[in-house]
Order: sequence, then C-alpha cells, then structure tokens
Amino acid sequence: MGVNPFEKRCRDTLEAIRQEGLHRQLRRVEAVDGVRIRVDGRWLLNFASNDYLGLANHPLVRERAVQAVREYGGGAGASRLISGSLGIQHELEEALSHWKGVEAVTVFNSGYAAATGTLSAILGKNDVVVLDKLSHSCLVEGARSSGATLRVFRHNDMENLEKILQWSQQKLAEEANSGMTLIVTESIFSMDGDAAPLADLVELKQRYGAVLMLDEAHATGLYGVRGSGMIEHQGFTQAVDVQMGTLGKALGASGGYIAGSPLLRELLINRAKSMIFSTAPVPASAGAALGALQVIATEGASLRAQLTRRIKSWTDHISTLLPTGVTTFAAIQPVLVGREEAAMRMAQALKDEGFFVPAVRYPTVARGTARLRVTLSAQHSIDEVDRLASTLGKLISIRDQDSGIIGFPDELP
Ligand SMILES: *Cc1c(COP(=O)(O)O)cnc(C)c1O
Repeated sequence: MGVNPFEKRCRDTLEAIRQEGLHRQLRRVEAVDGVRIRVDGRWLLNFASNDYLGLANHPLVRERAVQAVREYGGGAGASRLISGSLGIQHELEEALSHWKGVEAVTVFNSGYAAATGTLSAILGKNDVVVLDKLSHSCLVEGARSSGATLRVFRHNDMENLEKILQWSQQKLAEEANSGMTLIVTESIFSMDGDAAPLADLVELKQRYGAVLMLDEAHATGLYGVRGSGMIEHQGFTQAVDVQMGTLGKALGASGGYIAGSPLLRELLINRAKSMIFSTAPVPASAGAALGALQVIATEGASLRAQLTRRIKSWTDHISTLLPTGVTTFAAIQPVLVGREEAAMRMAQALKDEGFFVPAVRYPTVARGTARLRVTLSAQHSIDEVDRLASTLGKLISIRDQDSGIIGFPDELP
C-alpha cells in the first residue's frame, strides 16, 4: 500500500505545528444559554465571546432575524451586484449611516471581507499603505494583496509613524504619479484591548496629506453617546476617511461595514471583489443587526454602564494580581502568560474550574507572549466576574510554586 503523498504532507505539517505547541482545535459548543456554553457535556461560563452587550441572544435581535427570514428567505441567492442586494440590506445601510453620522455605508459578508475588499479597491501599486504592527490579519492581508508598497509602524508609536510618513511623502513626490499614503490601524486593539491615539493619528494624517482607515471592530457599539464607536466618542467623524467595523461583535449579528462618503461607497461597489464575487449576506444577519441597532438606541447606554461596572470590578481585582497590572479599561482584558504551553495549561485549569477563557498564541500574537484573553460582557453578573478573578489569583500562586514556568513577563528566561 503506497502512502498518499498529499496525506503525508498534511500529517508532516501538522506534526510541525504540534511540535511548536501551536496546534489548534475546534471546540464543539453543544448549547448556548446567555453567557453559559456547554462543551463536552459541561456548562462553562463563557469569558471568550465578543458579544460584549449580550445582544446575540436579545429577544428583539432574535425576533428581527426570524422576521427577515420570513420576509426574504434563508439566503440572498446571488451577489449584491446581481440580484442579492435585498431591501433589508439597504435598510441596514441607511440605519448604519444615520448611527455613524456619515453619508454612506456599505455592508459586507464579514468584517474580514470588508477589510480585504476595501483595501484592494482603494489602493493601487503607486500607493503606500502604513499599518500598525498589531493590525488584525484581515488588514494585513488586504494591504498585501492590494499591490501597494507596505510599511509597518511600531505599535501605537507616532514618532515611528511620522518617520514613515516623511519617507512616503518624499517617495510619492519623486514619483509624481498621483499615489497616496493610507494609514491603517484599529481604534481598540483586538488582543490587548488598548486604544490607538486617535487625535495624534488625525493630526499626522492631516499634516502629511494622508488618508486614514480605522478598524472599529472592538469599539462599535461600545463608545460614544450613540454607542457607534471611538470615532464618534472622540469627535473625529469628519476626519476618518474609511471607517470599518463588524456587525458580529458587540452588535451580536454578523457582517462587516465600511462607513464614509458616497464616492467611497460607489468605488467599493465597483471594485471590492469580496462583495462583487460573493453571495450577499443572509437576510437573517441584516435583520439581527437592525434589531441590535434598535436595542442600542433604547437600552444601549444602560448596557454600556452595566459593562463598565463589570470591567471596573475585574480591574479592581486583578490590579495587584498581575505583574503587568491593569493595562486597559476595555472589555478585552489580557492576562499575559508568556510561554505557549503555560498559557494552554492555565486555560485548561480554568476550564476545570468551570470558566471558558481562551489562550491566545502565535501567530495571533507574537511568540513568547501567549496570553489569556478574558472578554467581559454586560450579561455576566458581578459575582461571576469576581469568581473568575479570584480563581485566576489562586491558580497563579499555585503554579508559581510547583512548576515555576507560569511565564509571567518578569519570569521569562
Ligand atoms: C474580528 C475582527 C475583524 C473581522 O470581523 P469579522 O466580522 O469577524 O470578520 C476585523 N478586525 C478586527 C480588529 C477584528 O477583531
């Protein structure tokens, strides 16, 4: 019996991944009940979801999704450019425009598709795209496939960004072929929950005549009087040219959006491949997102206040527990562990205690900076948040003594 070379290749690659402690598996979530999920027959408290306001299970969000299915069906049947641009998607785009305070919004199948489609649509080979080092995979992928010259600035380092902008300005002036510089970053970073210095970014982009694209995946729904994001909160709606976000996190639905000008929307419709060549989003996702916007308009402020109280309780608890202290007041609370295996063992120990907290490893974060990524939701009770913090506290001291490889930053080899 000959060995199938393709199977062998798959096996060898997986073995190499395992050797590095980076093997991943899907966990089958058998049932969901708010912040509780059942995995392997056990109910766990879920501290891993990005459903920060608990909207995915809100009665109105569910109802609007079902209603959309009744009215429009299970699927859209075609790409938006063919016959899939259903009324409900346009209704959603209008509602999002109003919420964001912009003139035009374009909805995509996911945030990922919004990023890749948009970056390739707006950039060409004469352009320069400058990304924050910790930018999400979809931004990197979109920038790479756009054909533009790609540069990376150190995370949130405005001096470093300015140097690159000076270089880019000179390069574009020398070439004189109508290239532009696009700065790409996130308002709240996905793994550490820290914020970008928005005012400085806007000042730099204006000074160097660059264009700014901001990914609000972890800010949408959570900041500002209307809750539309950090751009609204800090008053930069007019200054950020390309506002991107997802409907899949705090909005509890699914899909991605790009907010900006009507011309940007027209360009995307004509050039964003992830929209042109892909079946339009399902009616249910648009229905759910419309429901979420309705909930946010009425209950958003109180849900955000509820979330803030949970974050405060968590940060009060862990500020003395972690060598790094509190690094952010966002719903994403990183617990830096260090080594990949140590992070995996911590996650397993928490699971044994009834908490689902994911370990995040390379390539999602840099090697040797594996961490637990705790996400808090308005739907957790304060008691549940406190119990996770004290359980974590116990684990840290136990592991410290018996293995010495917990790998907190000051203990790394
Ligand atoms: C999750 C995420 C995305 C992708 O959004 P999806 O709708 O889940 O595809 C994009 N950017 C950031 C920063 C994210 O965290």
